[in-house]
Amino acid sequence: MISYSGLGLKPIINASEPYTKLGGSLMRESTIETMRIASSNFINMEALTDYCCNKVANITKNEAAFITTGAAAGLVLCAAACSLQYSQKLSTPRQNNEEYSKKEVLMFEGAYLQQIPYWNLVKNAGVNIKLVNPDENAINEAVNENSVGFFLFPGTLYEKGILTCEEAIPLIKRKSIPIIVDAAAQLPPSRNLWYYTKILGADIAIFSGGKHIRGPQSTGLLVGRSTLIRECRSLASPHPGIGRPFKTSKEELLGFTEALECFLKENEEERFNLQLTILNEIQSKIRLKEGYQIQVKHIGRLGTYQPLLWLNLPKGISGKEVSTYTLSRETPIDIGYIDYDPEQADDRIFINAYNLLPSEVDSVVKAINEFIVQH
Ligand SMILES: *Cc1c(COP(=O)(O)O)cnc(C)c1O
Repeated sequence: MISYSGLGLKPIINASEPYTKLGGSLMRESTIETMRIASSNFINMEALTDYCCNKVANITKNEAAFITTGAAAGLVLCAAACSLQYSQKLSTPRQNNEEYSKKEVLMFEGAYLQQIPYWNLVKNAGVNIKLVNPDENAINEAVNENSVGFFLFPGTLYEKGILTCEEAIPLIKRKSIPIIVDAAAQLPPSRNLWYYTKILGADIAIFSGGKHIRGPQSTGLLVGRSTLIRECRSLASPHPGIGRPFKTSKEELLGFTEALECFLKENEEERFNLQLTILNEIQSKIRLKEGYQIQVKHIGRLGTYQPLLWLNLPKGISGKEVSTYTLSRETPIDIGYIDYDPEQADDRIFINAYNLLPSEVDSVVKAINEFIVQH
């Protein structure tokens, strides 16, 4: 049997976030077992997709759902599906290239465009991006016959300085164009799985399967209005559309469905408190020096429902420095730091216990204490 260390690769303790660069998250035993069972037979993939997507729509209280290969794939599929609906509206879509090439996806102008790289992906669907000032007049002026859809990026960080989904969706809905919400990392709470679509009225919300849901890393979820979800599915594998390269396997379809069921069955308050216990223990064991300050906050990145431990660093020490140090240790540890927000100084680190095991607490504490002693 292989092991990472046998391959010369060091397993990393995840004290930060379910980052793609770290492998997302760790699947539950039942997900792995489900994938193993799924791998043991041939199956009619259309029928399996029907089963999994209907089940997922049902348990997330949505009209329809589609399981794809990640939230990033979801962004491309949604942009392509919006384009398809738009071209179906044109009288002779394929011949009318000039008109077809004008199609635009709308997004707000804002600082979030520097903080997340994902919005750019919609261009893969052959659409142009039109940036809209985040106010009612600008929305009304921007939406015209070339608009195929409006893409929104929720989260307390990304919505800073622009309209929130709660404010923007009612304004955009008046213009009758599809609204797509990229809520890839907006979990927990699990109610967000239906909040953007059923409560706020977005046409589709997109989630990562490999982050908080702890599905296969290569999965993602689209939920929402059945006509648009159907277009997404028609463009995806096994059909030879733009989404053919994003193939979701039978193992991933069933594995994701199992992971989502488990995620929804878990008691969120219990999970929050478990994380809080771990963070409180870390806080009590860290030996502070002058210039260091520690605090556990009851709100997660992007406003999610999870506690975070914040350690403010003395002047001249950056979060990246701490992270580089903890990653270079014999047992590498990934610690969170803020390097993507030009408005915020990189003068602190954070620890998220979502993927941290109680048995890993001592390694984390030791690494941070040793950094503090040396700095
Ligand atoms: C992580 C993330 C994505 C990409 O998700 P994958 O499932 O890894 O493809 C897209 N958008 C946002 C806002 C994200 O946080």
